[in-house]
Amino acid sequence: MNSLNVLISVISNELGEDAKKVFEALLDEQDEITDEQLAQKLNMKVNDVRRALYELSRLNLTIYRRVRDKTTNWYVYYWRINTEELPSIILQRKRSVLRKILNRLEYEQNNQFFICPFDGSRYTFDEAYENGFTCPRCGGELQALDNSQVIEILRRIAERLQEEINIEEHKLSSSS
Ligand SMILES: [Zn+2]
Repeated sequence: MNSLNVLISVISNELGEDAKKVFEALLDEQDEITDEQLAQKLNMKVNDVRRALYELSRLNLTIYRRVRDKTTNWYVYYWRINTEELPSIILQRKRSVLRKILNRLEYEQNNQFFICPFDGSRYTFDEAYENGFTCPRCGGELQALDNSQVIEILRRIAERLQEEINIEEHKLSSSS
């Protein structure tokens, strides 16, 4: 998955499908485009497009140029992707994902887990201890869970992400 795809899935998760559609349409666009043109192109309501554009601009992903229309006297907004800022936004995102993965890794490493063999529910040592090592849902006997595989996977993801971050940080610092 390349960095742009990561960003698109973040947009889709955090801002929703409208924002994702608008962002992708702006990526396709070589030039600036107005909210009304976008609405037409995407077959969406102008208000939905505007909302998506403002949400994207809150994350610094889009920027606009405002021009007063001489005949109507209203402002027209020309939107585009904030291309200059995109690499550093992607980098910030990756850093925050890495922090979450490292927290999770620490949690997995510092805790012993127990699992119910009947319904698959998972408990920390404290929870299992409080329940006398029986499942509070079904009364089944809890068994110690080996989470070394989970730890291994998390560690690999964190390592790969850290490498990507190092490369991108290097690129950003050498281009500025
Ligand atoms: Zn159970």
